[in-house]
Amino acid sequence: MAKLSKRITTLNGEGSDGWEVFYRARAMIAAGQEVIELTIGEHDIRTHPDILAAMDRSARGGHTGYASVPGVPALRDAIAAQTQARTGVRTTRDNVLITPGGQAGLFAAHMALCDPGDTALFIDPYYATYPGTLRAAGARPHALQTRADNAFQPNDDTFAHAPDARTLLVNSPNNPTGTVYDETTWDSIARASQERDLWLVSDEVYDSQVWQGAHISPRSLPGMAERTLVVGSMSKSFAMTGSRLGWVIGPQEAVAAMLDLATNTTYGVPGFIQDAGLWALTEGQALSAEVAAPFRARRNQALEILAAQDTVRAIPPQGAMYLMLDVRRTGLSGEEFAHQLLDAHKIAVMPGESFGQAASGHLRIALTQPDAILADALQTLLTFAAERAAQASAAT
Ligand code: PMP
Repeated sequence: MAKLSKRITTLNGEGSDGWEVFYRARAMIAAGQEVIELTIGEHDIRTHPDILAAMDRSARGGHTGYASVPGVPALRDAIAAQTQARTGVRTTRDNVLITPGGQAGLFAAHMALCDPGDTALFIDPYYATYPGTLRAAGARPHALQTRADNAFQPNDDTFAHAPDARTLLVNSPNNPTGTVYDETTWDSIARASQERDLWLVSDEVYDSQVWQGAHISPRSLPGMAERTLVVGSMSKSFAMTGSRLGWVIGPQEAVAAMLDLATNTTYGVPGFIQDAGLWALTEGQALSAEVAAPFRARRNQALEILAAQDTVRAIPPQGAMYLMLDVRRTGLSGEEFAHQLLDAHKIAVMPGESFGQAASGHLRIALTQPDAILADALQTLLTFAAERAAQASAAT
């Protein structure tokens, strides 16, 4: 075979892409084994029938041709209105580009902001695709570590030694940690962005899932609207992961630049998908709370189960659909723990290491199984952890 591009063959950087446990679990399932998957952020419910009905009406009504590339005007208007109502920042359809999911929005944002070789900062722990997305846009990813003992909130120290860069990518509510950034954190982020003349890319795909505190969009902070791109999505909020419907909100010039990218790459998002999203955001808004509710309940249930032991420590998630567990007392790395748990009990969880160095010795549990199955799996995990911790202390 002739040579592939350096860009594509180096996309995942050095070593693994962090998804081995997930791929192993999927291979086991394909081979007919029963595995409890607590890996990816995929709801255990499907898209609501009323949203599907809107999709059906639109498609049968003829909206199956090329859709407007920046997005259906009514959907852009609805997202602009919702954003303006929530943040107080004037927002029109010219500030909104519809993308095939938040993931394509993250890519478009960095394509618009970074020249080849520019440094793009992001916060560790991070959503696993971030470094690859930044590389795909030609940027050089640089992780800034946060600390478990500070609940993974960045602060002034996080930015003190950061190299010169074009962009800073942040995510609150956070995947994988469940951290919701507080006002002090946002002050640090805004200050660092302004002092270092950075564009801020704010990944807000979990904004409908907040259990403690409140979601703040940094676009609403003084002086930030002109240097912030907000990435949003219907995936998590309306259980529409497979529909691939997201957006980027920002200054009009940046949106126009990203439209040029869309014209030459994705050519937009199917019109019937956009119409379904529009229905959800307008007439079906209550569904978003319905989708979020089980994750709040499971989070509380999991914290109760964890309170009965002290081998595994939880960092109580303030938002999103995950739980971070500190398993360092077992003497195992997150990767070792996850592989061994899969072998011993056919329970698949994500190793913290998949999400960066700051999460090493941790596991990320996706709260994406029915309550009883999740509770059982968690009990099994804790028993396994206690056994390993006992072995580790006997050995020392
Ligand atoms: N950002 C974060 C933090 C995520 O967890 C995800 C999906 N798991 C995405 C972006 C991308 O979501 P989508 O493309 O489905 O909108």
